[in-house]
Amino acid sequence: MSKRILLINPPFYRLLGSHYNANSLGIAYIASYLNQNGHDAWIYNADYVNQREYAELREIFDSFVNYTDYFKNENDPIWNEVAQKIIDFNPQWVGYTSYTANISAIDIISRKVEKMNPRIKQVIGGTHATLDGLVLEKLQCIDYSVRREGEEAMLALVNGKDPKTISGVVSREGVGFCDNGDANVIKSIDNLPFPERNKIYGIENDEKKFVDVSYICSIRGCPYRCNYCASPFSWKRDKTQYRSPESVISEMKFIKKYHWDTKKGYDFSASANTLTKEALKIKDNTIVYFVDDVFTIKKQRVKNILRLMIDQKLDMDWKCEARTDHFDEEICDLMSKAGCKRVKLGFETGSDRILKEIQKDETKDDMRRGIKMLKEAGVPVTAYFMAGFPGETDEDLKETIDFAKEIDADYYSLSIMAPYYGTKIYYDLIDRGYKLDKKPWEYFFHQTGDLMVNNLLSEDLIDEFLNLNKLNDSGKGYL
Ligand code: SF4
Repeated sequence: MSKRILLINPPFYRLLGSHYNANSLGIAYIASYLNQNGHDAWIYNADYVNQREYAELREIFDSFVNYTDYFKNENDPIWNEVAQKIIDFNPQWVGYTSYTANISAIDIISRKVEKMNPRIKQVIGGTHATLDGLVLEKLQCIDYSVRREGEEAMLALVNGKDPKTISGVVSREGVGFCDNGDANVIKSIDNLPFPERNKIYGIENDEKKFVDVSYICSIRGCPYRCNYCASPFSWKRDKTQYRSPESVISEMKFIKKYHWDTKKGYDFSASANTLTKEALKIKDNTIVYFVDDVFTIKKQRVKNILRLMIDQKLDMDWKCEARTDHFDEEICDLMSKAGCKRVKLGFETGSDRILKEIQKDETKDDMRRGIKMLKEAGVPVTAYFMAGFPGETDEDLKETIDFAKEIDADYYSLSIMAPYYGTKIYYDLIDRGYKLDKKPWEYFFHQTGDLMVNNLLSEDLIDEFLNLNKLNDSGKGYL
């Protein structure tokens, strides 16, 4: 029997004075998979705000105190608003997508939902649920957690299969838990339906045009091993899955046809018939964002995708994350010709010593070579850098600042290194006596100094680092 399901992205950036208005792909895939299998699943992005102005990174640092206040007051209107919207939808099941920083929000909301309607089954999935097999211990009102890819596990749950027999599901058993380990890796990700882009709940129809539905995932996972990154643990590093170039191109065409070119109108997904054509016009969708950890893994595959974009005259702008050591002249040239409007590159530090320690498996010279080719091809660059690695000295950070100036990126994304839960660096630091496991969950994100694990760096230098963007104010169109 068809079930009514709400997949929720809890508020997080909203609490920091910013917002996240894109389609959250993890829950959008779960929704489309459930809908393909006869259910009625919708997406509720509780981080959406009807504003066009985003807080700059620096402002997010500054709003940290206000942010922590939300967690001290569980009766803040924002929590009641989200819980009430969930209740108003009248779901039989809800699923929350998690990362460490939003666990406290999920806790507050799920307790309210349980109180208002205890018949609703509540499930948590996503990165934190995958990394923390004991998350249900902290989340008293969540019924099940799902580890790794959630499509098949969530379908089995809502179909009424015994949770104790579902791969990837952790359920309660007496005072303990039944943990069925990781969900099976989905090997044929080409066969998954495209993520849900129509059944968007919780915002007015005229606001839906501001939801950015142009995010595409072409790879699940990352084969690298950077020690500050949760990806190698939240996905199976050795089981990274790639969509075929044809599948990627077909999703780009789908987006262009149904969400960009508003003159052509819309084909509706089977059960999105309560929406009007007008409501689905996406006003601001002008660029595809490949949200893969690293879009450029597997050179030949990437070149094939780029050639298809060119040969089939897609004429669509796009941006992606990449590594400099993947570039050669041909890739850079193809990227430029295929409509690439920005590449985001994780340099992280200008110190070869730190690069080695963080297991980046790239050197400064690799980076110099890569960015030179990309710049010659005329593709704008966003450069990620961090300060505050364990053991990083003023000398190292000076090298970072000099290196950042040398590469002359169009935009710098700058942050304080946060030892995310589940990363190698997190466990290394705990072994060395840092009480990271005593920190509130909501502190685990980059834009706070509160997780700083380095007391060697001088404040003035950190300030100089965080102000690097003032060097260069151009290229802010597609950060
Ligand atoms: S930082 Fe990037 S390249 Fe390194 S493991 Fe994470 S996703 Fe992969």
